[in-house]
Amino acid sequence: IFKGYIEGPPKETDMEFKVGKKIKLEAPKGSGAFLVKNLYLSCDPYMRGRMRDFHGSYIPPFTPGSVIEGFGVSKVLDSDNPKFKPGDLVSGLTGWEEYSLIYRTEQLRLIEPNDIPLSYYLGLLGMPGFTAYAGFYEVCAPRKGDYIFVSAASGAVGQLVGQLGKLHGCYVVGSAGSSKKVDLLKTKLGFDEAFNYKEEKDLDAALKRYFPEGIDIYFDNVGGDMLDAALLNMRIHGRIAVCGMVSQHSTSNPQGTQNLFSLITKRITMKGFLQSDYLHLYPRFLEDVISLYKQGKIVYIEDMNEGLESAPAAFVGLFAGNNVGKQVIRVAAL
Ligand code: NDP
Repeated sequence: IFKGYIEGPPKETDMEFKVGKKIKLEAPKGSGAFLVKNLYLSCDPYMRGRMRDFHGSYIPPFTPGSVIEGFGVSKVLDSDNPKFKPGDLVSGLTGWEEYSLIYRTEQLRLIEPNDIPLSYYLGLLGMPGFTAYAGFYEVCAPRKGDYIFVSAASGAVGQLVGQLGKLHGCYVVGSAGSSKKVDLLKTKLGFDEAFNYKEEKDLDAALKRYFPEGIDIYFDNVGGDMLDAALLNMRIHGRIAVCGMVSQHSTSNPQGTQNLFSLITKRITMKGFLQSDYLHLYPRFLEDVISLYKQGKIVYIEDMNEGLESAPAAFVGLFAGNNVGKQVIRVAAL
């Protein structure tokens, strides 16, 4: 349960775990709803934005006292909706609870049975993976041989951006917040180089070390000081895809950017985007990424926590960098 609107970084105590009343596990007749058993839930940074009392964003805030809404993979148990039948597996917006009654189906997708782990529909094949795909191909305008920098590179989005960059014939460097993540980037995820930004006193100097000839594409997941340093290191006609600013999520007064003048001197294109603007590409994304995964050309790292009770700590951990890979909660077995 989301307790109430917050300032600053989220805390576990901003959420409450409650045992609800016993209910009949059925979809009420005439409701058009269907009842699901939630199997996996996703922790995503954008959910912090829904904890503010702000109605001007692309998604409304959570309602205090209500079950938290988030992406999940669920199994249909009972249905009053002809499009979904008992036994179907779906991914989309559901509740942080064991069972949910789902009325809104716009963002819900049926999962075609295959041998890919179901939880991947929250990461590699879900919203974050699609963000990486749409952001990389549609916003970054990549060319073979480009120098690419990805921040929060080992996370749900970043790890796929880097791998798509390598498959495209680019040189890819990632930043992350621990030596374990840096190792994974270099050994498992195939990045050319990676560095721990927390150990760098001067981010501008760090980027100059890894990109002596400058950056063609910066895929920005963090904003703040890293964006400022990247602006100083872009090449002429470079592209910055502004995907997220996780370093600024918990402040009501986001940090300004000092080096915007580089946009002019280097004729940089800087574009913010939402994955939801590109949903027409979703079928192509699924086909491409499933095929790459099956051929062993991409891998995906998940951080799986067990049980609904572990969800608040896992969510809070996103903002301390505790997650190693895509943060998922396993709620129940199939
Ligand atoms: P991640 O799996 O990367 O998890 C968040 C990571 O952010 C942490 O593990 C941590 O990694 C890093 N981080 C946390 N706090 C800070 C900080 N203060 N400064 C720098 N890094 C920090 O999350 P996602 O891959 O799901 O999301 C990445 C970004 O993409 C987010 O900004 C998110 O909001 C955005 N996004 C945007 C979408 C869009 O449509 N535009 C859709 C989906 C996501 P580390 O240890 O490396 O610091």
